[in-house]
Amino acid sequence: GKRSNLSIKEQREGLPAFKMRRQFLEAVRQYQLMIVVGDTGSGKTTQLTQYLAEDGYGNNGLMIGCTQPRRVAAMSVAQRVSDEVGCRLGEEVGYTIRFEDKTSDRTRIKYMTDGIMQREILLDPEMSKYSVIMLDEAHERTIATDVLFGLLKKTLKRRPDMKLIITSATLDAEKFSSYFLECPILTIPGRTFPVEIMYSREPESDYLDSALTTVMQIHLTEPAGDILLFLTGKEEIDTSCEILFERMKALGPAVPELVILPIYGALPSEIASRIFEPAAEGSRKVVIATNIAETSITIDGIFFVIDPGFVKQTAYDAKLGMDRLQVTPISQAQAKQRAGRAGRTGPGKCFRLYTEGAFENEMLPTTIPEIQRQNLANTILMLKAMGINDLLGFDFMDPPPTNTMLTALEELYALGALDDEGLLTRMGRRMADFPMEPSLAKALITSVELGCSEEMLSIVAMISAVQTVFHRPKEKQSQADQKKLRFHDPAGDHLTLLNVWQGWINAGKQESWCFENFIQPRSLRRVEDVRNQLVQILDRHRLRIISCGRESLRVRQALCAGFFRNSARKDPQEGYKTLVEGTPVYMHPSSALFGKAAAEHVIYHSLVETTREYMHNVTAIEPKWLVEAAPTFFRVAGTEGRLSKRKREEVIKPLHNRFAGED
Ligand code: ADP
Ligand code: MG
Repeated sequence: GKRSNLSIKEQREGLPAFKMRRQFLEAVRQYQLMIVVGDTGSGKTTQLTQYLAEDGYGNNGLMIGCTQPRRVAAMSVAQRVSDEVGCRLGEEVGYTIRFEDKTSDRTRIKYMTDGIMQREILLDPEMSKYSVIMLDEAHERTIATDVLFGLLKKTLKRRPDMKLIITSATLDAEKFSSYFLECPILTIPGRTFPVEIMYSREPESDYLDSALTTVMQIHLTEPAGDILLFLTGKEEIDTSCEILFERMKALGPAVPELVILPIYGALPSEIASRIFEPAAEGSRKVVIATNIAETSITIDGIFFVIDPGFVKQTAYDAKLGMDRLQVTPISQAQAKQRAGRAGRTGPGKCFRLYTEGAFENEMLPTTIPEIQRQNLANTILMLKAMGINDLLGFDFMDPPPTNTMLTALEELYALGALDDEGLLTRMGRRMADFPMEPSLAKALITSVELGCSEEMLSIVAMISAVQTVFHRPKEKQSQADQKKLRFHDPAGDHLTLLNVWQGWINAGKQESWCFENFIQPRSLRRVEDVRNQLVQILDRHRLRIISCGRESLRVRQALCAGFFRNSARKDPQEGYKTLVEGTPVYMHPSSALFGKAAAEHVIYHSLVETTREYMHNVTAIEPKWLVEAAPTFFRVAGTEGRLSKRKREEVIKPLHNRFAGED
């Protein structure tokens, strides 16, 4: 790479944003609210915050706050900017993501997820720590960013000294401008090269295989230049890396080296930073990424993009009555963004693994905003905790559909977070204070009443902090599975997680114990950190930490209080059927309950779809606990659960109508 030889100053001054520096700072001085649009890689995220700091906005104990929709982006951008500023991460430049705060008293530029800023505005609607707030990647239209749009517009009225900057890679200019009070739009002129688009002639039956073949073809036949391949998730990416590695090995040393680099959200940051390093002379780099590389991080030197046309995103699934990760086709706007990644360093090529007809006729022009497709229980709980009861009167850029609102209200009502008037209960207020999904917060708070909060804390921390603590290396899978059996609890996976935690504590938190048992020590240390933070929140609410000792039955009862909607009953034929919608679901093979005959009724934490719907983190329960946990939802033990028609008519509909002003 040529660029790595340049000094940091030269690199910064070479970015398109630099030409706009003066104009940008003048506009910020003049206007309270503005929009900045610029291509990915033009320097919006890393430079604008520094210009603001250089102009004094980080003085007098105030901060420049910048949101990112993704955790990895917040971390990697903060790292880059601290390098450019020349400080240690967490000093002048820091970041905050859920359960991880790398800032200090000296921090002037703070990157954070939009979810974290949403929590901060809940505690301090004035946002008094900030002189400027930059809502970055606004085109992604995450729920948290959309909600912050509305909330910060109100904050601006009360804080005439505060500035709000909305930044975006692409923009529906008219929509944004009219929503943001006709504020000025500053455009950073692009510096892009033409990208030649190649479509598949026929629809691909196996996009993964065709993607990997394309990687090899480019590597063997095209001139120098790195490759960026978009896939949908961790598993797909890890598998692809292995296959490519094997194919390269089979070709032997005559072929130039191909450096294969994965990037996805769950990857530890040390590995993630390797994707920015240029490949050695004579070798080529292929970065295999999730959607994160579409706009939120920029990798230099990409000449070839391979776009299979899919993304994994959360969407509400009416059949299951809950949000679910689904692989869906991208929009035309996303396809254009992806192709654009190939034209940053020179003229590039984009291989679209779908037909031109599919692009023209099957893809939506733009992506549907999250707020119109996801569960809103969390968001409504937060708004209510801020005293915002008139939800339909809330200043949404795109209001959520009526049905989504009703479902969320119903869920919060059944959880006991709302009363018959739709006002937040004491339980609801407490739930809003825990940075996690409402069901998990409810289970934790209920565990205090049931005298098992000591145990539930560990379980909740295990579930919230990491995807898994179990280490299952390819070469030693059966050995790892054998060791895991020793932790298996006959009542299910939640108590299995508890057994792991207690095993670690009893072993004095020794690393050697972890290695022996195929447990990842860094995951457990993270769990411990999260657990300590949860203890603080419980303390703040004077909720006591009590152990149930061996009476772990109470833990399962407390879980029911939060997860009664995720309940299922054994199907005489095969697998399970959910009690709420009657949808077929199956025990995941990794579950402690897999292959056991006993569990007639279970609750699960989440569903994972592979070939079919698998329940993840499953625990055996007594159906009568469901009735105790949610009497408005379950009337007779063991039968289907849902809010009665009467309750719907008497409570939920009027609530909604009142919001709609029809009452
Ligand atoms: P934008 O927000 O407009 O998409 P960024 O500010 O994220 O642009 O990136 C500007 C430039 O900074 C990129 O083109 C890239 O060259 C460089 N850059 C960003 N992050 C890193 C990093 N972690 N390592 C090396 N270079 C980086
Ligand atoms: Mg950016």
